[in-house]
Amino acid sequence: MQTDHRALSGRIYNESLKTAMTDRAMVPDRLLTPDSRLLDASPALGALYESYCWAAHSLKARAWLQAAFVFNFLLMSFDYFVSPSLLIATLLIRGCIMSTILLGLYLLWGRQRPRWLQGATLVAVSATMMIGSGALGALGGVLLFERYLTGALFTVATAILFFPIEFRWTAAAVVAAIILHAGMIVTGPVADPLVALSTSCFYSSVIITFASTRKAALRSQWKSFKSKIRELRDQEALASLNAELQLIANLDPLTGLQNRRSSQEDIERIWSDASFAKPAIAFLMLDIDNFKQLNDSLGHAAGDDCIKGVGNKISLALGDGDIVSRYGGEEFLVVLTGTTASDALAVAERIRRSVETFPLKTSEDESASQVTISIGLALWQGDQTPQTLIKRADAALYEAKRRGKNQTVIAPPPPGIGAHTGQGQGKKIA
Ligand code: GH3
Ligand code: MG
Ligand code: MG
Repeated sequence: MQTDHRALSGRIYNESLKTAMTDRAMVPDRLLTPDSRLLDASPALGALYESYCWAAHSLKARAWLQAAFVFNFLLMSFDYFVSPSLLIATLLIRGCIMSTILLGLYLLWGRQRPRWLQGATLVAVSATMMIGSGALGALGGVLLFERYLTGALFTVATAILFFPIEFRWTAAAVVAAIILHAGMIVTGPVADPLVALSTSCFYSSVIITFASTRKAALRSQWKSFKSKIRELRDQEALASLNAELQLIANLDPLTGLQNRRSSQEDIERIWSDASFAKPAIAFLMLDIDNFKQLNDSLGHAAGDDCIKGVGNKISLALGDGDIVSRYGGEEFLVVLTGTTASDALAVAERIRRSVETFPLKTSEDESASQVTISIGLALWQGDQTPQTLIKRADAALYEAKRRGKNQTVIAPPPPGIGAHTGQGQGKKIA
């Protein structure tokens, strides 16, 4: 059945479905939520299926109608050839009535119609073929009548294979064709009604087989559509899981700030981005003073609270474009972009003072402890890499500790660069 379906539906269907399915924007978000009920009985899914398949379905139905229209015209000369007395009848029946109906159905398949109307077109095709051919055959005599009816049944069988409509409408078209065929055999001019009826039974069984093939093909289309949606849903879930994991991997779990690795990636990005003016970049290395002592006296949990609180103070003092990360245990790295020497210093001092006035309260001990930080500030002064800036900021931080802590020290320029920038050389600010 699967092979039949592929042969029948062909490349056009598969291609159009593939193209449509890759267009994620066409699939409503709620169909991509992990609710499996939506994939079983959702009207939205049915509507989506309809619009996905419409182009390919219309192409096939129209191709059949186009061919039938052309053959119908060619058969007019055949009618005349086998029986010249049929000229007027064929001009009227084939030339006017049948071709108008086929043309009308062709136009109807030109844009998306409700499913019942798509289905009704096959019933119309079935009735048109049977009645038109039967009428012409009856006028042509016994031999022609049976042959034309058989030909009409065959034509209806091909239409059943081509028209991708709901099965109930396929079944209705089959029933219409069989009833009309049997009815005309019984009432029309046949040599031997029993032989004619047995032919009728044979073709009817062929048509019924075609209809069940059609049903299997449609079921397989529907299943492959649902599995595509499922695939899309899984991809969506995986993408959001990956995004979440990425976020978790970039954050420091204690403070919620970026971790060292993630900040280093950002720094590399900024460094290689030509739109960031390097002279406007400043690095601040911040470290909590006497933290070991605090840890020892108040406990590790209080130490954690302190790290969190300081991280929070630093974030509050910064703008959107700045990078702040927890660089190590109780050390933080801040990268200011689009800054000047005086602004960077002002930011550093703002942070230092806000921490200085930050009383640490722990759940065990209500008495507040004084917390201070020391800061090393390095302004870009011809540094070749971000690592040299970090090194200079670190050295300035070390100097701040050495000079008594709770202060900001500006790093001297890197070796080989003079003091022409006017920026401090190991200058203490507090
Ligand atoms: P200085 O003023 O010179 O910076 O001295 P310090 O005591 O702050 O620095 P030191 O490097 O001697 O101590 C840092 C301590 O921070 C050592 C370590 O036990 C502690 N620490 C590192 N990570 C964490 C953490 O996540 N939570 C807590 N509570 N303590 C931490
Ligand atoms: Mg410290
Ligand atoms: Mg430290």
